[in-house]
Amino acid sequence: MILRVLGCSGGEAEGDRLTGLLVNGTVALDAGSLTLALTIAEQVAIRHIFLSHSHLDHICTLPFYTKNVFGHVHAPVEIHALPETLDALRRHLFNDEIWPDFSVIPSPDAPIIRYSEVEPGHTYEVEGLRITPIPVNHLVPTVGYLVEDERSGFLFTSDTAETDAVYEAANGAKHLDLFITEASFPNEQAWLAEVSKHLTPAKLAQELKKLKRAVPVAVYHLTPGDKPVMLPQIEALGHPRLSLLEQDAIFEF
Ligand SMILES: [Zn+2]
Ligand SMILES: [Zn+2]
Repeated sequence: MILRVLGCSGGEAEGDRLTGLLVNGTVALDAGSLTLALTIAEQVAIRHIFLSHSHLDHICTLPFYTKNVFGHVHAPVEIHALPETLDALRRHLFNDEIWPDFSVIPSPDAPIIRYSEVEPGHTYEVEGLRITPIPVNHLVPTVGYLVEDERSGFLFTSDTAETDAVYEAANGAKHLDLFITEASFPNEQAWLAEVSKHLTPAKLAQELKKLKRAVPVAVYHLTPGDKPVMLPQIEALGHPRLSLLEQDAIFEF
């Protein structure tokens, strides 16, 4: 399995928190940076996009993506997400006001994107991968994803405060090579993490006690302006397998 972390041209800027992962070139998890990180040919190669939730940093390049692949894809790109997430896309994004409704363009029978509801705990087999959405604890309905093939796997928690199910899934997974989770605010802003349902480095340390697998842990979603404060806090945790999820990183399992 080849996992590519989709960076964005924002570099050190706000764009750092735009979230996107690409698996084997054809399956994306979240769509925060698809059009910033990928060539048109690479965008066209994507067949499935699994969204974790409706927040803008996870979906914001989806409209530009639909425009970029228009005329180049010969079958609809499947957008897999919770019903609440799909509903948000329909009502607030692809609503003909913010962006054309590419779920019926060029025709309802052969659109650019097709919505497909996911059910937490159910495993979906696409492109030789097994993908299982797992509910997490965030402001809106949100799932993390366990992604596996025959010999490898990783788990992406997406945005979450304290939660259990993803750790149970990681501990029970047949193959686990990487655990990706978040830390969003410095320890001094624990109140903000609490109201926005995210983690601080200190809360992350508590959470990681639930992970019983000795696998690398990669942290994402740091608030760009708070990185100078957060990086020493993450380092001070002294976790032997913890690192930042670097933009444009490529993992081969
Ligand atoms: Zn979020
Ligand atoms: Zn986010």
